[in-house]
Amino acid sequence: MDEFHNISYFDYNSTTPIDPRVLDAMLPFLQDNFANPSSTHHFGQSINEKVKQAREQIADFINAEPSELIFTSGATEAINIAIKGVAESYSSKGKHIITVSTEHKAVLDTCKDLERKGFEITYLTVQNNGLIDLDELQKAIRPDTLLVSVMYANNETGVIQPIKEIAKLSHEEGALFMTDATQAVGKIEIDADDLGVDLLCFSGHKMYAQKGIGALYVRQRGNKVRLTPQIHGGGHEQGLRSGTLNVPGIIALAKACEIASQEMMQNQNTISELRDSLEVQLFKLPNTSLNGDVKNRIYNTSNICFKGQDANVMIGRMKNIALSNGSACSSAVVEPSHVLKAMGLGEDDAFASIRFSLGKFNTKEDIETVIQKIKEITQTNNNYA
Ligand SMILES: *Cc1c(COP(=O)(O)O)cnc(C)c1O
Repeated sequence: MDEFHNISYFDYNSTTPIDPRVLDAMLPFLQDNFANPSSTHHFGQSINEKVKQAREQIADFINAEPSELIFTSGATEAINIAIKGVAESYSSKGKHIITVSTEHKAVLDTCKDLERKGFEITYLTVQNNGLIDLDELQKAIRPDTLLVSVMYANNETGVIQPIKEIAKLSHEEGALFMTDATQAVGKIEIDADDLGVDLLCFSGHKMYAQKGIGALYVRQRGNKVRLTPQIHGGGHEQGLRSGTLNVPGIIALAKACEIASQEMMQNQNTISELRDSLEVQLFKLPNTSLNGDVKNRIYNTSNICFKGQDANVMIGRMKNIALSNGSACSSAVVEPSHVLKAMGLGEDDAFASIRFSLGKFNTKEDIETVIQKIKEITQTNNNYA
């Protein structure tokens, strides 16, 4: 943790530190409480009871039934199980899937894989503000469309799509609807039942639990969603995700949900205030602009274009500040953000953009530090000459 205390961390959308209370809750399950919840002895069954309680708590947090939750290693796996599971299970109806060009790579690359297997994917474009056009979606849905997949909040820009409306529209046109809600769960209230989604994914390490735990919500009420299993073995998780349960992860995720449900409003107030004060200061600098919709946006994220600058150079010059110029994945290759390009930014502007993603451990001092540093850099690093 020493490292964390010395830096101003603005990369919460790529991962969060573990909340100390989450760590306390999970530690006994890494030590004394190690039994396999599938074991029939009393020790195993006592752990199974804890898993059951955790599952109820997590389900309750997104207003789902415990039987509607499948534990996975994270959002990427949940997304793979959902999209491939639907594709295989419903392929007699057709082979068409609709998603959006600004989705996370976990969705885009899973769809690419299905394209190689004979599926047809429509990648919806977005408007300059990052929002999809519902008319375009409606026109894209066909009788052979199995699934529409649209993320809840974008990891790079924070842009929030109208998920309830999109789910309704998809259903009216006869398609299933899934949402990657990894950047929404834990930050804002999510009611899977009210949203009317069929499938919803989220991840522990984006909400102050550890890496390696996530969940997939699979609707069982009303129209049951059928998924063909992609991972075979002992038949855990209703046969949809075999493998010994990650008990410490499940306990941690439940604790993270409990904390989020109690502190969400407070976090929203303090984090949005910090984010807004950051933006007020940065937008006073010349040649700065916001990427994404001002209104339909999650409160912790700000994606700003510093026109004429090189974001990578800027980030490299900020030694004790953790920032991102795109998503965290595949950062060995320097490519402009596919999200910003889809929103109509040119390559130069995409390369000039920085994502600030804030979290509950950020302080006013962090904000002052980053503003000061960016002022220095943009004033001494004028690339117009
Ligand atoms: C982080 C993230 C993922 C991947 O989650 P993992 O749990 O790391 O697999 C997927 N979608 C979005 C929107 C994300 O932010």
